[in-house]
Amino acid sequence: MIKQLIPAGYCLKCQGCCRFSEECSVWAPCLLDEEIQALLDRDIPVASISADKRLHPAPAGSGGSFLCPFLDCQGNLCRIYDLRPFECQFYPFLLNLRHEKVFLTVDLNCPYARRHLNSPEFQGYTLWLTSFLNAPQQRKILRDNPQLLQAYEEVAELIALKALDENT
Ligand code: SF4
Repeated sequence: MIKQLIPAGYCLKCQGCCRFSEECSVWAPCLLDEEIQALLDRDIPVASISADKRLHPAPAGSGGSFLCPFLDCQGNLCRIYDLRPFECQFYPFLLNLRHEKVFLTVDLNCPYARRHLNSPEFQGYTLWLTSFLNAPQQRKILRDNPQLLQAYEEVAELIALKALDENT
């Protein structure tokens, strides 16, 4: 599991994550191939995973929004926390593919990120996460799972990651 920046208590009170405005949302987490297998081994419904290897949001009922199939709305908890996707583990940071380069970016819809963006703690975590994602093991994960590299709009680009075809 990736070390967390945002205190758990803060996330538990926020109703922002894991909810999407449309069913086929670029914001729904993409899954590594091994994560798909781990979820299937737990007998999760196949319909929870889209053909493009991402979690498939389900209609929330009223209001026209969509929810991650693993969100427990009552407790605002992830029902697969110990198996939650790689991408979920470092949200509100995102991997953003722009002009064939991968940037570490942050989603400023996250109120914690908006408020703490310029804090030493936030900047220190950004450097730590950059170095973590640039390490050989994570670079292999990204090379093997290109579905994780996609373009997001309205995010703040923080830092370019090493090119994935570099031999380190
Ligand atoms: S898997 Fe868990 S953390 Fe990830 S979007 Fe779904 S409910 Fe949220």
